[in-house]
Formats: sequence, C-alpha cells, structure tokens
Amino acid sequence: TPTVRFENVRFAYEAERPILHGLSFEIPAGKTVAVVGPSGAGKSTLSRLLYRFYDVQEGRITIAGQDIRQVTQASLRRAIGIVPQDTVLFNDSIAFNIAYGRTDASQEEIEQAARAAHIHNFIAAQPQGYATTVGERGLKLSGGEKQRVAIARTLLKDPPILIFDEATSALDSANERAIQAELRAAAQGKTTLVIAHRLSTVVDAHEILVLDAGQIVERGNHQQLLALN
Ligand code: ADP
Ligand code: ADP
Repeated sequence: TPTVRFENVRFAYEAERPILHGLSFEIPAGKTVAVVGPSGAGKSTLSRLLYRFYDVQEGRITIAGQDIRQVTQASLRRAIGIVPQDTVLFNDSIAFNIAYGRTDASQEEIEQAARAAHIHNFIAAQPQGYATTVGERGLKLSGGEKQRVAIARTLLKDPPILIFDEATSALDSANERAIQAELRAAAQGKTTLVIAHRLSTVVDAHEILVLDAGQIVERGNHQQLLALN
C-alpha cells in the first residue's frame, strides 16, 4: 500500500479563478484522511486531481514518491478505486457495470460485491443487459441505485488506494448505515481519501482536513477538531 502526497497543489478550472491554493497533505500508507467543508470548497476537485481527470497546474501529487503524471493512465486507474458523487454507467447490464475493470471476476465475486452494496436484486432482474437505459427496454436507475453500482464496482476491484467522494450521499437511510460499514471495512489497510459532509461520520480517520475556499483551514483528528469548535 502506497503513501499519497499532495505537495503545494494549485489548480483552477478556468484561468483567473483558482480553486485550490497551494494545498499540502499526506495520506500515509494504509491510513484514511477525510476532507470536510462547505459545498464549493474544492473537495471533489481533490479527488478528480488524484484520479487525473485533471492535472494540477502547480505543485504535484505523488503515489509512493512518484509523480502521478509519470505513471501510465492504466496503472494509475488500476491502483485507485473511486466512488464519485455522480456515477455514469455503461448502457449494459448491472453485472457488466460492476465487473468493469475486473473482467476476470467470477459470477460469485460479482454477486458478493453486489450483495455488500445492496444492489443484488437488480442483477437478477436484468441479466441481459441494457439495465441502465431510459426507455422501453431499460430499467431506469435512481441516483442511489447508481451509487450502489459504483460501490459494488469498487468493492470488487479492491485496489490499494480508495477515494470515497460522498460515497453514500444518494442512499436512503435504510441502506446507508449498512453500506457505510462495508466501505469502512473495505478501507481497512488501504490508503483512503474520504470526502464527507458530516464530521460525525469520519471519527476514525487518521486526519481530518477542513477545506474552505480551496484552503485547509483546520486539520487534526476528530477529537482535536471538536476541541477547536
Ligand atoms: P466541493 O466538492 O467542495 O463542493 P468542488 O470541488 O466540486 O467543491 O468545486 C469547487 C469549485 O470549483 C466550485 O466553485 C465549483 O463551482 C467549481 N467547479 C467544479 N467543477 C468545475 C468545472 N468542471 N468547471 C469549472 N468550475 C468547476
Ligand atoms: P456523510 O454524509 O455521512 O458525512 P458521505 O456520504 O458524505 O457521509 O461520505 C462518507 C463516506 O465515506 C461514507 O459512505 C463512508 O462509508 C465512507 N468511508 C469509508 N471509510 C471511512 C472511514 N474510515 N470513516 C468514515 N467514512 C468512511
């Protein structure tokens, strides 16, 4: 399991409008670092930079000491599993979507991941494909159902680095607790970036960063942050 480091990261989607202003932090190998903060603070941007949807404009991000720009896209994406806030699925079966990135997975493994993410019933309901189409042949999935597919995919992939970007935000409360426990278990021993909107869900994180307007305004473990407020 590698260490992930953000070193003086500056980033703007549009010139003249910087989003992250020289951010530095480390996720030690096998630990969880959580990021909380108001909407628009730049939390999701952090996860997009680590996954290289975008590249930093200044500073660098390293995995095991290596700049991620020097790693091939394929090996970066093998090393990292991301549950984004909004998942876009392939227009194919739920099983196909779960196994994407793990084409060697057995039916049993796929079903096990689907069960953990509470999306198992959908596999049985739509075995032939076109599960995500909107329209006559398709089964339209809700935001929460898509999120559960993304969670199952990441559980099955089981990579050394995990990113959970408000990974259970679209779930109904009946599913939320159980699935949060699955994600916590999956994060054990993995280098994990958790983006959360409640401080109370990240009590066990190694470090919590409070991000506001692209800057780390507070940092510490849960107890230390409670003492500050
Ligand atoms: P958070 O996750 O903390 O809510 P984000 O990282 O999603 O914040 O967004 C930080 C800022 O970047 C916001 O002001 C948002 O409007 C802006 N932003 C996000 N994505 C884009 C984009 N693709 N193009 C331009 N601006 C963006
Ligand atoms: P909340 O709204 O409850 O703050 P979010 O939906 O914003 O939660 O995202 C936090 C997610 O990160 C949860 O789904 C949780 O399961 C996941 N997670 C994974 N590992 C941990 C961990 N060690 N501590 C807290 N949350 C974790």
